[in-house]
Amino acid sequence: MAIIESGIPQLAHQPVRRKRGRPAGDAAKDPTVFHVPSRCPRCQSTRRTGYTHVVSSPYDGIAPDNKPYTTLTLRRCRCGSCNFPRVDRVYEYVPKK
Ligand SMILES: [Zn+2]
Repeated sequence: MAIIESGIPQLAHQPVRRKRGRPAGDAAKDPTVFHVPSRCPRCQSTRRTGYTHVVSSPYDGIAPDNKPYTTLTLRRCRCGSCNFPRVDRVYEYVPKK
């Protein structure tokens, strides 16, 4: 209780603005990225060429690691050993603002 020395009547009590924010340690709201292990389906080699075509699409779902994702990125490349084309997938979870 504050004592007002000036004698001016205190106006209506201003509501206290609480800081908004998530509690610390809430990892589920941090961006996560899950890379599908890149391996040739034909010769099982993990070698590959550079990515030639990258497409990101907003898509909600569950990644292979059982975590939700909001963006699915497909990256086309070829096997570095047998030149077999394949598509690498990257699942990204970015919390919505
Ligand atoms: Zn291959």
